Amino acid sequence: MRILILGGTGEARELAALLVAQGADVLSSLAGRVRAPRLPDGPVRVGGFGGAGGLAAFLREEGITHLIDATHPFAGGISANAALAAADAGVPRLVLRRPAWPADPSWQLAADMAEAVAAVRAWPGDGVFLTTGRRDLAAFAADDAHRFLVRTVDPPEGAVPPRMTLILDRGPYTVRGESALLREHRIGLLVSKNSGGPMTAAKLRAAADLGVQVVMVRRPPPPPGSAVAATVAEALRWIGGQSGDQPG
Ligand code: NAP
Repeated sequence: MRILILGGTGEARELAALLVAQGADVLSSLAGRVRAPRLPDGPVRVGGFGGAGGLAAFLREEGITHLIDATHPFAGGISANAALAAADAGVPRLVLRRPAWPADPSWQLAADMAEAVAAVRAWPGDGVFLTTGRRDLAAFAADDAHRFLVRTVDPPEGAVPPRMTLILDRGPYTVRGESALLREHRIGLLVSKNSGGPMTAAKLRAAADLGVQVVMVRRPPPPPGSAVAATVAEALRWIGGQSGDQPG
């Protein structure tokens, strides 16, 4: 087996570490968006493949036998490419995707970022905490009616809201720290993607404790027909089943 992990998540790093420890032949791939990424154990390649066709060619050239799409739940482009490329190259593919946070009845759900932008526009308050990532900031750039607290890993490169306070940070976060931040910046509305997982969940608890409203962007579904694992352990079992030789 030669396994390619499409990464950029904590789960991808965890899976790579376990496979490397077992002596598996594994290669991790990162998009190269973050300036100083947390690198997985084992060999890593960085940068796009050049679409689904490029990824299919890469799978063939590198002799990849199994593809694990462990990218972020909102990285829909690479997941769609992975599905096409794996089918083209005849390589079994698994989506490793952590479960979404269970919807709280108090949340306002947005089908996509455009709906989240509209929800913020319609909100009569002042302080908004945006945790949707730097690439979605441009969507809020026309909103001069609100004061935005924005938290990203790297500085934004495109258009940003005119009234913005920027914090560079990458978590994990604590409820105590998130509560202090919400209070300090007099936040009344939190906008988040439903990324799931424990790393960034503290803001939701802090928001609930302080009566801060939440606009939650729903995640896109995985490509149709995908085998999906919710945990690293499930992914390891899938790999074991593929090789007929249970790892770990
Ligand atoms: P995207 O929109 O789905 O992908 C855009 C393009 O980036 C892809 O078509 C591909 O380029 C390249 N790419 C993405 N992930 C790659 C990977 N793991 N290895 C090699 N190339 C990759 O993705 P995105 O939302 O920009 O996310 C980029 C990366 O950041 C992903 O790996 C994801 O796991 C991570 N991430 C994303 C988010 C988020 O909120 N979207 C949050 C945390 C981490 P080519 O077409 O040239 O192959």
